[in-house]
Amino acid sequence: MFNYNPKSLKAEEFINDGEIRETLAYAEAHKNDRAMIDEILEKARPKKTGNGWNCAGLTHREASVLLACDDPEVIEKIYKIAEEIKLAFYGNRIVIFAPLYLSNYCVNGCVYCPYHLKNKTIPRKKLTQEEVRAEVIALQDMGHKRLAIEAGEDPKNNPIEYILECINTIYSTQHKNGAIRRVNVNIAATTVENYRKLRDAGIGTYILFQETYHKESYEQLHPTGPKHDYCYHTEAMDRAMEGGIDDVGLGVLFGLELYKYEFAGLIMHAEHLEAVHGVGPHTISVPRLKRADDIDPDQFDNGIDDDTFAKITACIRLAVPYTGIIISTRENETVRGRLLNMGVSQVSGGSRTSVGGYAGYSADERPHDTEQFDVSDQRSLDEVIAWLMDYGHIPSFCTACYREGRTGDRFMSLCKSGQIINCCHPNALMTLCEYLVDYASPATKEKGFAMIDAELEKITNPKVKEIAKKNIEDIKNSNRRDFRF
Ligand code: SAM
Repeated sequence: MFNYNPKSLKAEEFINDGEIRETLAYAEAHKNDRAMIDEILEKARPKKTGNGWNCAGLTHREASVLLACDDPEVIEKIYKIAEEIKLAFYGNRIVIFAPLYLSNYCVNGCVYCPYHLKNKTIPRKKLTQEEVRAEVIALQDMGHKRLAIEAGEDPKNNPIEYILECINTIYSTQHKNGAIRRVNVNIAATTVENYRKLRDAGIGTYILFQETYHKESYEQLHPTGPKHDYCYHTEAMDRAMEGGIDDVGLGVLFGLELYKYEFAGLIMHAEHLEAVHGVGPHTISVPRLKRADDIDPDQFDNGIDDDTFAKITACIRLAVPYTGIIISTRENETVRGRLLNMGVSQVSGGSRTSVGGYAGYSADERPHDTEQFDVSDQRSLDEVIAWLMDYGHIPSFCTACYREGRTGDRFMSLCKSGQIINCCHPNALMTLCEYLVDYASPATKEKGFAMIDAELEKITNPKVKEIAKKNIEDIKNSNRRDFRF
């Protein structure tokens, strides 16, 4: 008999191996049960309420049944509902960010990551504050407003004080009309006290990928270093929330373990956060294992093809409708384009995964020496922005929610209220306008201004529409920036 308890604070109880195995057996047994599948799809579909939308989401068992189903007709329905959910809660906006690698010093032994301690071929680098400033200026000059900072785990080289100092440097660097307004943080699992310090430093989302939910594999994949401790790592989000961080981001590194196991674990983790803290994950990332310095993805047995990857992403969208889904430049343009229609709400653009990869390099030059993994989508930010608009997505540089205190459950309430069209939508248009005026190429500008004009008309509240129009004129005609609802 297994011990599954989403409210437990013990990793092995809320991510219970027995429950996952039962779930997989249940999903396999019901994957051709059309009556059950139709019922699950109906539950997942967004329902119109008085002034907004409501979506029930799915349990890990229900979502696992959909993931197990191979019927092409059902898969098409899953994709369609994923898109409906995305449009109901996020509209056609896609939030833009870039990673900023601070240091690749690391004491862990992760066998899939080139930053592992035993890798003697990769040069080690840690940015000085001057270098952080230079990177931030380069990122601002591309047009970025939102970063995800990344660092290896190394208490001597990258202590929490170093991370805090970098965050402070990032927020205080102002260049021309540029500003980084939200810093998300992807650093190793740490203590409640350190999470509190990150909260006080004004971070956005704390992101930590689980890598794999399978405990035995986890321990083999992380043979040495502090990250070896499965429970400490898996319970990190509870400590982060205890430390006052409202927005946390989950993720699995697909390719390490069997994807159905990972999927069930991921949704159970989301259920656990909801059960204990009253709010689910702010985001879920879906990274796939990539080639890197001394890492060959072909040495791992559990790689997934593009169709399976799309199905996983769409099933996540159905299971946790209010959670943002992030897709990075690990994926190429074709895969990213496909997933944008299946519920993805955030993408990175113009990314470099090396330490010090932005400053001093032109758009088509990229240093590989300290890179964490190969980047598949190597387009510039301007190209990504133009491409998004070509497919009807509004690129959004908005960071208003957390700066207005709309984090955790308050963000979720906004999502459900139907007021996105009068809040996030105009914010997206105003921040897109900033991008166009300050950084875009002439061709992107032309597309963007036409999109803004058309999208302004969709705002339903006349007062909001009037203010948004006025602010957009101000952005075009002055250096006034950072308007937000
Ligand atoms: N060091 C931090 C930790 O311990 O969680 C996280 C920062 S790490 C720079 C960010 C993420 O990159 C890791 O959590 C891992 O999932 C991912 N990653 C590592 N090696 C990778 C590879 N070869 N391909 C794709 N993603 C990789």
